[in-house]
Amino acid sequence: MQVIINQSWLELAEGDITKQDTEAIVNAANPSLLGGGGVDGAIFRAAGPELLEECRTLGGCKTGDARITKGYRLKAKHVIHTVGPVYYRDGERAPELLASAYRRSLEVASENNVRSVSFPSISTGAYGYPIEEAAPIALRTVISYLESRTDIELVRFVLFGHSAYQVYEKALKAREQGTREQGGKGAGEQPSGIRNLP
Ligand code: ADP
Repeated sequence: MQVIINQSWLELAEGDITKQDTEAIVNAANPSLLGGGGVDGAIFRAAGPELLEECRTLGGCKTGDARITKGYRLKAKHVIHTVGPVYYRDGERAPELLASAYRRSLEVASENNVRSVSFPSISTGAYGYPIEEAAPIALRTVISYLESRTDIELVRFVLFGHSAYQVYEKALKAREQGTREQGGKGAGEQPSGIRNLP
C-alpha cells in the first residue's frame, strides 16, 4: 500500500529490512548499540563487522533517541539506530518514547540529507509493544513529520510477515477514513491529504 502525504510517499511493504534500497534503514537497536537479536542481529550480520566497529565509537543511545552510521555491506548507505521503549518497563511513557524514536530517526535522516528511509516496526518484538497499539503511533508520527516538511521523499515501513503487514495496513486505512470523515485538511479534491495509489 502506498499513499502520498504532502509531497512524500508513505509505503507499507512486507519483507526484510536488510534488503531495502532506501538511502537509510532504521535499526530497532538496544541502548548499547552493540547488537542483539531480531532485526538488530539481522542488520549487523548483513552489514558486516565494520558496523559493530563504528557502533563501538558512539557510546550508546538513549531510549527515544537515534544515531547514524554507515551501511557498509548493505544496499542502504546509512543505518539509523534508534532505541524504542520496553513496553512493560516504560509503562505510561511508552507511547511518547515510541513516537520519539520515529521522530528522532527522521530528524537524524534530515540532518544527513537522507531522502528515503525504511523503518521496521520498532519495539514490537523483544521489547513487547503490542503491534496493534504501536502501529497507529508509528504511522501518526511519521505522517505528521512528512506533513511538516518535504525533504524526505519516501518512508517505507517494512513489516516482517503478513500479519504485521495487515496490522499496519488496517491502521493506515482507519486513519485515512477518520481524516476523511472529519472533513480532512484541505477538504475537497484531496479530502484527507492522503491519496491511495494503484
Ligand atoms: P525490539 O527490540 O525493538 O522489539 P525486534 O527486532 O525484537 O525489536 O523486533 C522489532 C520488529 O522487527 C518485530 O516486529 C520483528 O518481527 C521485526 N523484524 C525482525 N527481523 C526483521 C527483518 N529482517 N526485517 C524487518 N523486520 C524484522
